[in-house]
Amino acid sequence: MKTVVLKFGGTSVGSIDRIKKVCKIIASYKKKKNKVVVISSAMSGVTNDLINKSKQISNNFDKAEYDALVSTGEQVSCALIAGRLNHIGFKSRSWLSWQVPILTEGSYSVARIIHIVTKEIKNYLKNNGIPIITGFQGINSKSRLNTIGRSGSDATAIMFAKFLNADECIIYTDVDGVYTTDPRDYKNAKKIKKIFYDEMLEMASLGSKVMQPTSVQDAKLNKINIEVKSSFVKKPGTLITGYSKSFSDQIITGISSTKNDAKITIIGVKDRPGVAACIFKPLSHNLINVDMVVQNISLNGKETDLTFTIKSEDLKKTEKLIKQNKKISFKKISFDREVSKVSIIGVGMITTPGITYRMFQALASQKINIQVISTSEIKISVLVSSKNVKKAVAVLHKEFKLD
Ligand code: ADP
Ligand code: ASP
Ligand code: MG
Repeated sequence: MKTVVLKFGGTSVGSIDRIKKVCKIIASYKKKKNKVVVISSAMSGVTNDLINKSKQISNNFDKAEYDALVSTGEQVSCALIAGRLNHIGFKSRSWLSWQVPILTEGSYSVARIIHIVTKEIKNYLKNNGIPIITGFQGINSKSRLNTIGRSGSDATAIMFAKFLNADECIIYTDVDGVYTTDPRDYKNAKKIKKIFYDEMLEMASLGSKVMQPTSVQDAKLNKINIEVKSSFVKKPGTLITGYSKSFSDQIITGISSTKNDAKITIIGVKDRPGVAACIFKPLSHNLINVDMVVQNISLNGKETDLTFTIKSEDLKKTEKLIKQNKKISFKKISFDREVSKVSIIGVGMITTPGITYRMFQALASQKINIQVISTSEIKISVLVSSKNVKKAVAVLHKEFKLD
């Protein structure tokens, strides 16, 4: 008997009607004599709504209470799914993270799942039940609720697949697979049949929200194949899996772009060894993630200009931290909220020369100015003005023959 883990995202359980449809999908797996474990997100919009409520209460909402609050959406969707499955004749019950329990470690809002106690769940499966488990959360060593980052239910599903040694892990969402770029933004995007963990990890980290990055990392570490499918239409999805030489003659697999990036430039910083560390230390202590970085030395070697990107939501805090940083002196600081990162991703670029040139040439042909560049073995990212993102994705999609 196979064990399958099914994860449903917010839109998939976004209304009563959708929940009834999802229960039919769950039932179809059960009828095929599988042991079925379900992980659910909150109904779409619910988590955002809870976050807004916290902001109305306080702009400095207690971190532990914040997690206790924003994790409640999943309780509703799980109980509704279990209730509906009972209604159509299946044995099912909801499980909140602390009832399992799902154990987490790390700071509130960005914790990681470190262990799942599976005894009760396994017993329930043996007795023909369908457990419906809250995604996105767990409890820490003090038994307090912890969330594991936005879109975290993906990671919950992967960790259940790991700890239950499941045969299949299927992420049901509102698109029928992983596409070469976001199909909602670019109509010529094509569905990818198979994608390697490393490529999916880059795409997810660089803005393709179809999978949460941590979940892909967990899947890679534990060699768990993921299938991404639609809960709306019955179509084959995308397999996310480990590297094998048998497929992919494609150089570039996908293109990602970000929203909500901001660029900061500090001009005329007095240069000395350790100055960059002095700038970034307070940011790191405040959990502000610095992404692309470029540093230019002036001709006389005494001053430096430093440009880096962060998420726009961190801009105010970052500005304050830099201005009150007594360990550095500089002439001027400037900010740009209207920037986005566009990235091309593919393991094929390791063995193919000339990709960087083709990318830059394609962008130049559309008169798109590149502000910052960063590369890794399997991706090239450029920072461009946000107004050029659509044009950039389109020209790169054509250049690398993904259309
Ligand atoms: P869920 O609520 O099911 O977790 P998400 O909203 O997190 O769903 O992810 C699905 C969305 O990801 C799609 O609606 C799509 O717009 C977006 N997306 C971004 N990049 C891609 C991509 N490369 N392929 C497919 N979907 C993508
Ligand atoms: N409900 C949570 C969120 O909106 C977790 C998830 O959807 O996976 O981020
Ligand atoms: Mg998601």
